[in-house]
Amino acid sequence: MEIVEINLEDRSFETYELDEKLFYDRLGGRGLGLHFLKRERDCIAILRGVLSKVPGIPGRACACYISPKTKGVFYSNSGGNIQWMKPYALVLKGKSENKVILKIDERKVEFLDGRSIWDLDVCETFNVLGKKFKQHILLSIGNANSVNECLSNNKHGFFGRGGLGYLLREKNVKALVIETNNGFSTKPTEKYYEIYKLLIKKLKENKIINELSESGTVGMLLKELGARGLLPVAINYKKYLSEWFKHKKINRGCLGCPIQCKKNFEFWGGLISFYFQGMRDLIEIENSYKEYNQLGIDTVSDDNVHVIDNHNKIAMLSLATSNRGDVNQLILTRLFRENMKMENIDAVNYIISVQNEIAVLDSLVTCGFTLYAWDLHDYSKILESLGYSFTEAELSKFGEKIYKEEIELNKKLGFKYKIGACKEHIMEEYFKKRGISM
Ligand code: SF4
Repeated sequence: MEIVEINLEDRSFETYELDEKLFYDRLGGRGLGLHFLKRERDCIAILRGVLSKVPGIPGRACACYISPKTKGVFYSNSGGNIQWMKPYALVLKGKSENKVILKIDERKVEFLDGRSIWDLDVCETFNVLGKKFKQHILLSIGNANSVNECLSNNKHGFFGRGGLGYLLREKNVKALVIETNNGFSTKPTEKYYEIYKLLIKKLKENKIINELSESGTVGMLLKELGARGLLPVAINYKKYLSEWFKHKKINRGCLGCPIQCKKNFEFWGGLISFYFQGMRDLIEIENSYKEYNQLGIDTVSDDNVHVIDNHNKIAMLSLATSNRGDVNQLILTRLFRENMKMENIDAVNYIISVQNEIAVLDSLVTCGFTLYAWDLHDYSKILESLGYSFTEAELSKFGEKIYKEEIELNKKLGFKYKIGACKEHIMEEYFKKRGISM
């Protein structure tokens, strides 16, 4: 588990192995990223985890940084092919004096001149770099120069929402060229394949996962949110769903993922944003989506756009206590997985449990969509079969620790939680259960 720390200011770097104590304390991804942020607020960490490249597991990579948009701690995942990067973590510190491309290869870091590609958009940049670095993983910013700039990983994977692209622009980093991991994040064992056989059955038999595979997040959420009256905009969902089924769909799933949820629009949020702006035609939306991606701008950049209706108690509390200041569709995972009824849910306990689960997956680093079918008990079995001993309770406790530490860091940073319409006594109950005084 190789860590590469790069000082952009004086162009020095160091590589070292993650020690076992820190690994068990932080795992990888979001947990380990938080460790670096607590040490050095100005850094950007891009990390994988022990499940980022294991056969059959939907792997991702995670980026952690202080967001220029929210001014708080931010984590976002991408899964084009960055989850297959060789280093376990890359940590960028300081600011480069000149415009550069970072090449991280064979425990070495090179600072290449980035001036000739600085003004290129995302597609142009990948075309130039792709010809030169055929075996490497590429990350790049576009040419939008906006606080809503994201970091793109090939043309269909993005570290979005928090303005990571803008932060890299400020640090004078245009692109990263990273060595590929030709092995696995964790070598699969016979026991793993036995467990996985049962778990893949569970995944494939799950209604929500099947909907994701067949019609992407757009199809699944139109159907499931529409049926429950939880859509964030007034869409005639049955009509729109039938249009979506007729629309020609292209698979753009993350490398190695058995679910393959990504279709033409990789994110549900993209559709909702454009719909919110008044666009109705799916081809027009798809074209706008492509333009945004080409420039390297996030399709969800309007604070007023929410991916699910935020007038119910679950979404309200989720937004009010989100360390990123947004509502993610993943708050629905346990609701759908356990077939719960929204009206019977104890919002505080529910939101805490889901936030903890997501923090665990972000630290392993695997796709949160699996939580529609698998729970932490399943993940504990996967980890055990791979040689990592974590009970379900220990994983949950780990997620709790990470979430709580993020709140503490946000408090120090002066991050403003979007309390909005959430009732004061619910907030008090939430923070009391988290063991935090606000
Ligand atoms: S489920 Fe979708 S977002 Fe998740 S890893 Fe698979 S393709 Fe990527």
